[in-house]
This record gives sequence, C-alpha cells and structure tokens, in this order.
Amino acid sequence: MTKPIKFTLNAQDGAARQGTLQTRRGPIETPVFMPVGTAGTVKGVRFEELEGSDLDAQLILGNTYHLWLRPGIEVIKSCGGLHKFIGWERAMLTDSGGFQVWSLGALRKLTEEGAEFRSHIDGSLQFLSPEVSMEIQAVLGSDLVMAFDECAPGEASHGETSASAELTARWARRSRARFQQLQIEGADLGRRDECADLSGQQALFGIVQGSSHLDLRRESLARIVEIGFDGYAIGGLSVGEEKPVMWSVIDEVAPLMPVDCPRYLMGVGTPEDLVEAAARGIDMFDCVLPTRNGRNGQAFTSRGKVNVKNARWASDSRPLDENCRCQVCRRHSRAYLRHLYVSGEMLASILLTHHNLAFFLDTMRGVRQSIRSGDFTNFRRKFTESLNASEQ
Ligand SMILES: [Zn+2]
Repeated sequence: MTKPIKFTLNAQDGAARQGTLQTRRGPIETPVFMPVGTAGTVKGVRFEELEGSDLDAQLILGNTYHLWLRPGIEVIKSCGGLHKFIGWERAMLTDSGGFQVWSLGALRKLTEEGAEFRSHIDGSLQFLSPEVSMEIQAVLGSDLVMAFDECAPGEASHGETSASAELTARWARRSRARFQQLQIEGADLGRRDECADLSGQQALFGIVQGSSHLDLRRESLARIVEIGFDGYAIGGLSVGEEKPVMWSVIDEVAPLMPVDCPRYLMGVGTPEDLVEAAARGIDMFDCVLPTRNGRNGQAFTSRGKVNVKNARWASDSRPLDENCRCQVCRRHSRAYLRHLYVSGEMLASILLTHHNLAFFLDTMRGVRQSIRSGDFTNFRRKFTESLNASEQ
C-alpha cells in the first residue's frame, strides 16, 4: 500500500540523523524546525519571506484549537482548506488541540469521551474529542495530522500519569479509526492525487505521553507503536519541568522509537535545545520562542540572547549577530533596532522575528550539513561554546 509520507535516512552521526521526509507537498530535509502559525499566520512574517531564500521554511505548524474557534471550520471549509485560506502551498502540520485544551486547566472537564471547555474567545461551551479533532484537521487539510492526546501535569503522581497515558492510548486508537474513515470518505481538503509514490492522503502522528515517569514513557511508546502511525511525537515536555528531566525522558524514549519514521519533539525549544535533541536522534521541532520573543524585543544570536531594549546598544552600529547572513543583520544596526523597539514601532517586531526565525532555521541547516559531513560533534561543541561566550 502506498504511504502518505516516506522517511529516508541520508546520514547518521552518533545518534543524530539527517533524513528526507517526502510529503505530498514536497520533500523536507530533517532535522527541521517548524515556525508556529497559531491562527493561520506566523506572527509578524509574510509568507513570501517564509518562502524566500533567507528563511526558506519547508513546513509550518497550525493550531487546530485556535482555527476551530476562529474563524471557525465552516469559513476554512468554504475557502477550500487551510492551505488555500492562508495562501501557503508548502507542507503544514496541525496539532490536535489537546495541548491548548489542557492549558485551560480548571476551565475544562475531562471525560472518557473527550474534553468539554469554555472558549477563551466568547465563553461558549465547546467539546473536543479524538473524532472531532480528526474531523477538524481533515477540513484544515494539513499534510501532517496529530492524534488527540491528554497531557498529564508535570507534577502528577505515577498513578495519575499512568491513567492519563492510558487515556491517551485509547484516544490514539480512536483518532486512528476516525482518521482512516475520513481518508476513505475524502474529507481531507488538502488531498493531492498527483504525487508520485505517495498516497496523497494525510499522514497521522501518534504522541507519547507519561510525564517524567520513564517506565510510563516506555509503556506509552509501546502502546502507540502497536496502534501504528506514520510518525511519532514526544509530547508533554517543555511544560515547566527542569531541563535534566526533559533530557532523561528523551534519552529514554528516542532510542526506542521506530528508526524508519520521523520523530517529533513537540513544543521544544531554545536553539541549544534543538541541537541537543538532534544529537539524541530527534527529527522535527516547533516552538513559539523565535516569534514570541522577537515581539518582546529579544533576539537569539550565535553568542546568546540580546535584549534589544538595553541602553548599551543605543549607539551600537554592529548587527544583532555578526555571524548571521539574514536580511536584517545585513542591513540594520542594533542601535536602529533598539530605536524602533523603544519607539513602539511595529517594524521592531517584524525585523526581530525575521532574524530569530533565520537564526533557528540556519541552526538546523548547520545541524543537517554537519551530520552529512560527519562533523556534527564538532558543530555541537562550537555552537554551545559560542552561545555561552560572555562577550556580546
Ligand atoms: Zn540575522
């Protein structure tokens, strides 16, 4: 049977992998960073720029929860799916909405059937379940679909986490069943019939939960792999736990994940986290840091973070990052960016977001090249040393 995606490993260096993920909207080189397009927009960046040689993002992420509540699924359906609605032809992954509902905390009510909650927009009562999430993601027509999961709080006991991971496994099975029906029914608005060697259908990823309990993580992975998905994700990390906890989970889970499928670490992280997780065999990442921090006046650079509002840059004619070749660094000084930021000019957010995305995407390019050339260990050491250099 033809598959919706194909994942090929091109090179390995230690546990780090460089692969090609064939999707119905073209090939994606991994490890890959996905800019987050929460509400159908990667905030502060035009799509032309995302596609331009400076950024060249191959894959972006859309949030099911946000798009479902606003503009609503009927609007997106009448516009022919999310790709057409927002004007993006390249590949797209959508999350399941599970994490956003989980973030509502006490505002949601969880049952075996699904999650009932009040919309953060108008307070209306809403219900999300594995079936509803699959139906929404079919209309969105994303190329990579996430199963609907439940995320246990970081501080949850072994018993609570175990129950939550069990629920995630039952929801994964229901997600898979509804997903397959929807593919047969032709509900997927992003379907492509003309892709060679691929089915043209959506691909579905399963999510491993289990919080910081390593035995539960192993069990969760085994359950999800038994159900069978096109790709596998590690969820429930970067939710406030200590860094060593996150690494212990990745060290435990990544080596056990199927070798021939993409591995996605959800919601992680800083540039350093990306390189460290790639070293442990992770292939896909998403995080709001480059866009959110850009809007808050913070730049990520090869020599650590730069707070643009800082008075010490008031007359500094250097670029944000002397090692960065992005359009912002080639053209503008720290002094100018600081001036824009303290004056409340919207261009400050736009330029900082552009540079931050360029830095994240370039970092992944460096990771890929160094794995291919067998030089990843050296790249990783130099990258970390430079980040921690005190001199800005
Ligand atoms: Zn730059």
